[in-house]
Amino acid sequence: AKNKGGNRFHIYDPKESNVIEERLRIENGIRQAIEKRQFVLYYQPKVHLASGKIYSVEALLRWQTTDGQLIHPDTFISIAEESGLIVPIGKWVLLTACHQNKRWQDMGYAPISVSVNVSPKQFQLTDMAETVHQVLHETGLSPEWLEIEITEGLLMQNSNEITNTLRRIRSMGVKISIDDFGTGYSSLRYLKLFEPHILKIDQSFVAHMMEDPGQLSIVSAIIHLAHSLGMEVVAEGVESAEQALKLLQEGCHSVQGFFFSPPVVFEEIQQKWLQTSIS
Ligand code: C2E
Ligand code: CA
Ligand code: CA
Ligand code: CA
Repeated sequence: AKNKGGNRFHIYDPKESNVIEERLRIENGIRQAIEKRQFVLYYQPKVHLASGKIYSVEALLRWQTTDGQLIHPDTFISIAEESGLIVPIGKWVLLTACHQNKRWQDMGYAPISVSVNVSPKQFQLTDMAETVHQVLHETGLSPEWLEIEITEGLLMQNSNEITNTLRRIRSMGVKISIDDFGTGYSSLRYLKLFEPHILKIDQSFVAHMMEDPGQLSIVSAIIHLAHSLGMEVVAEGVESAEQALKLLQEGCHSVQGFFFSPPVVFEEIQQKWLQTSIS
């Protein structure tokens, strides 16, 4: 509500009340977006540097409002997490991404994997292994073509339940990757314990590695760490040919970033990136 009577009767900080109002507005918006089916998935290619070919796409959530605006997840994901609405949204993302990937395979394209971001809240509030199992069953996608992106924070929670869930997901044949690697607090012990398949080097390191030797040594260290533990490594946020070449020299063969493609709608993945299978 607007303060008609001036500042005299305020018993709370008006700035704070605006924050609360804004949160409630977004939360209501999210509920409506679920009802009105306003969420869409964009897909960003992950590319092998040697061949320039796509081998995977990351599914990234967008909220398409009625006036045609495209809202990025950074503005609403945290509110979706705190309100628990991330559960139905996350389930929809997983189902839609797996369904889309299965359709591409059925259309005769050479198979690629799809990766889906799963927030720690989804692991806390639901049985993610059961959800993954159901979605694979429902869509008919073979587990080897699904990848789950989690953050270091999830591993650090050090709970038996989460360890168990991740093991069950692994044992289905689904790949696990650690997103934004290097920005959290994961210890090498957790890496050894969970044996994720893939480390994704956070884009903040890639962004500055050409002019900052310190950032470059972090990138280089993560690449070597991954390889010595038998993991794959992907560099995120690659925006230039110079960065791609440097990564290749450092031994990182898989990349994702605006230099190759921004996240795009599924039709554009089909038209520009997928190749017809030879078999
Ligand atoms: P993320 O998982 O680290 O995704 C990468 C983000 O970097 C994406 O932002 C992508 O558009 C952006 N990006 C890609 N290449 C480049 C580049 O070359 N330069 C720069 N500067 N940025 C690049 P987006 O799509 O806005 O997503 C932001 C974050 O929201 C994601 O970060 C992820 O943490 C979260 N998110 C996205 N979709 C989902 C989802 O379905 N579920 C959950 N739980 N989180 C999601
Ligand atoms: Ca991600
Ligand atoms: Ca990331
Ligand atoms: Ca991120």
